[in-house]
Amino acid sequence: MTKRALVCGAGGFIGSHLVKRLKKEGFWVRGVDLKYPKFSETEADDFINGDLRDPVVAREAVDCRFDEVYQLAADMGGAGYIFSGENDAAVMHNSALINLNVLEACHRRNTRRIFYSSSACIYPEYSQRDASNVSLKEDTAYPAAPDSDYGWEKLFSERLYMAFHRNYGMEVRIARYHNIFGPEGAWNDGKEKAPAALCRKVAMADDGGNIEIWGDGNQTRSFLYINECLEGSIRQMRSDFMGPVNIGSDEMVSINGLAAMIMRVAGKKLNFNHVPGPLGVRGRNSDNELIEQRLGWRPTEPLVRGLEKTYPWICTQVQIAAQRQSART
Ligand code: NAD
Repeated sequence: MTKRALVCGAGGFIGSHLVKRLKKEGFWVRGVDLKYPKFSETEADDFINGDLRDPVVAREAVDCRFDEVYQLAADMGGAGYIFSGENDAAVMHNSALINLNVLEACHRRNTRRIFYSSSACIYPEYSQRDASNVSLKEDTAYPAAPDSDYGWEKLFSERLYMAFHRNYGMEVRIARYHNIFGPEGAWNDGKEKAPAALCRKVAMADDGGNIEIWGDGNQTRSFLYINECLEGSIRQMRSDFMGPVNIGSDEMVSINGLAAMIMRVAGKKLNFNHVPGPLGVRGRNSDNELIEQRLGWRPTEPLVRGLEKTYPWICTQVQIAAQRQSART
């Protein structure tokens, strides 16, 4: 019998890629989102264009048996969105409602297996003050002290999923994503993250010119290519391991280092202009011991391979935007 999957957040970056992957595997897929994917047609068999803050929409989405439910819908964005402080109420309210509604709808329909995308942002700020030594093990989440309300909501929702597991026997799977990037992600709408933002800046700059980098650029992170994220998520979904588990790369890089890598991919030499901006924690890296131990898997490709696939896509977006602009003037 054809397997059925529900992808909440199917109009978003990771969700739209996940739909494609599940279709390749032969699933019948229903997507739900406030919006359709921005950069390509959805491949979902059925797409509910609806608001999961509304419990009626959540119940409509889960109106039949699903083998796999992926809950990726959230009000989220990059540092410029999460750390400005201006979106905290919306982020917490919207994402908490989505999780409450989707879990309740799955429970009502006796849908047992649900994957939840949590985030590296749940880790305490106090363990991420050093740019050089910040590998985050899953069991260091408590005592909790995330540095953003986005992180607090994710932590609350992790607990919500675990409570539904304990009290109702739901087979929840919780992953903590660490900075996922790739083609067809936000690149210029204020929700883009560092790899996309830097690819855009490099693509728009003339060789020998300048690009702006927020802060001193010595803050560190790791970045995981979208296909690796999907592989890790699906493996966890089909395993007996509830998590929470990190799904991230442990190839830590400074933001200056990331920009330099993109410049090499682009074949451009540019100067950095360091400007004030929202920064988040000083350092963050994924610790992959647990995922390796429990799923026998870790990301397979270095950061640069993902950038080699992402940079050309962003270059094309920049060119299309420029053509549209000049057609208008
Ligand atoms: P995204 O913003 O591209 O996708 C989220 C989708 O949720 C969007 O399409 C949005 O329209 C949808 N959504 C928001 N509110 C909704 C509502 N009320 N009803 C229905 N749909 C709604 O983000 P993404 O990068 O694809 O992230 C997917 C998930 O992974 C999110 O939960 C995010 O918090 C988590 N995550 C992502 C990253 C990353 O680096 N991309 C890192 C950590 C965690």
